[in-house]
Amino acid sequence: MNNNKGLIVCISGPSGAGKGTVLGKVAERFPEMGSSISVTTRAPRGEEQDGVEYYFRTKEQFEAMIESGEILEYDTYVGNYYGTPRAHIENLCESGTDCLVDLTVKGSIALKDHFGDNALTIFLMPPSLEVLEERLRNRGTETEEKIRQRLAQARGEMKSKDRFDNIVINDKLEDAVNEVIELIENKKR
Ligand code: 5GP
Repeated sequence: MNNNKGLIVCISGPSGAGKGTVLGKVAERFPEMGSSISVTTRAPRGEEQDGVEYYFRTKEQFEAMIESGEILEYDTYVGNYYGTPRAHIENLCESGTDCLVDLTVKGSIALKDHFGDNALTIFLMPPSLEVLEERLRNRGTETEEKIRQRLAQARGEMKSKDRFDNIVINDKLEDAVNEVIELIENKKR
């Protein structure tokens, strides 16, 4: 990568693979990195606020945004839409600001198609599906039905891991974080 554009780092992996924690640590290491606030039709959880964690919209509003081209990529996940607003992430890339995003597999593949060599896709794998299930249950934030749906989604997502630029196994958190940091640094060299 040798242009003046920003690098769009896309991280995917089954829910419960520790994605959120790894992303938080990676973001700490690169404080200058930008981020993209996604649009979703799911309801806010806990203290989540509109415009902070997500833009919370109705299905009708979301579909109007797809129609108008405001959404660069989108996917459905456990019954809801999630999508990346086009303008902000394109501006980040054009203005040379790197950006870190957490997306479904389909989302990362779409951003790779769109940004090409200015995107780096990383698939974060849990050590096993059993560990994944245990982590999801220990989180205690989801109903049994939601856990089941997330596990089904995870099984499907694992099949696409080879379409990513890199695969990182999140066995020990610190090792996974360091691996992701190294991949980003190498890409930017
Ligand atoms: P959660 O409901 O736990 O906040 O997010 C569920 C999933 O949606 C996560 O695995 C996350 O990667 C994915 N996601 C969040 N925002 C986007 C987005 O803009 N596009 C796509 N494709 N996936 C997203």
